[in-house]
Amino acid sequence: MAGGAYASPTANPVLLLALPTNGSLMPSCALCNTEDAAPYEVAPRADSVPVCAACRQGLEESRTTGSLEDGPHWQCLNEAIWSPEPAVQVLAWRLLAALPEAVWARDVLELAYLEPDVLDWAQQQAGGGTDAVVHVDCNGTVLATGDTVTLIKDLPVKGAGFTAKRGTAVRKIALVPDNAAQLEGRVEGQRIVILCQFVKKA
Ligand SMILES: [Zn+2]
Repeated sequence: MAGGAYASPTANPVLLLALPTNGSLMPSCALCNTEDAAPYEVAPRADSVPVCAACRQGLEESRTTGSLEDGPHWQCLNEAIWSPEPAVQVLAWRLLAALPEAVWARDVLELAYLEPDVLDWAQQQAGGGTDAVVHVDCNGTVLATGDTVTLIKDLPVKGAGFTAKRGTAVRKIALVPDNAAQLEGRVEGQRIVILCQFVKKA
């Protein structure tokens, strides 16, 4: 579409609405641009995004198993993660987070910026129909209770009067059940709450 062709808001809006019907009515996939996409609901919100069959399958797989097989198809996420549409960013983020083994996907996740409420939404992945909360580390790797993580920066511990040093290993973490952003662990003998974004799975 040619840029700079915006009509003033008071100009005939019906004409503007009519423009996209030029050609196919079939929406294309918001993630990979393949034609023949169907609406996919970005739970737990009601927003929906058109996605193709391949992307839909990947989303279902990542939702139910938490992981995804890497393949050339997912290179589309390099662009999708930067979509101006928050719902598209959420889907791209969830797919990337399900590819923890793929170095490129970790790099994309590291560079990507999502507004805090969009990130929150992305992390509210309803697994298997329940409201499972998914905790992920700084690379988007899914964390589980009992895992060992290392701190990626110095963290002053409020109320405890010490700083948990970068590189400290925290063994047998516990995930905070209702908060995807937090985990609990023992550092210097004290049980503290740590933000998942500041740890890396060991
Ligand atoms: Zn697609």
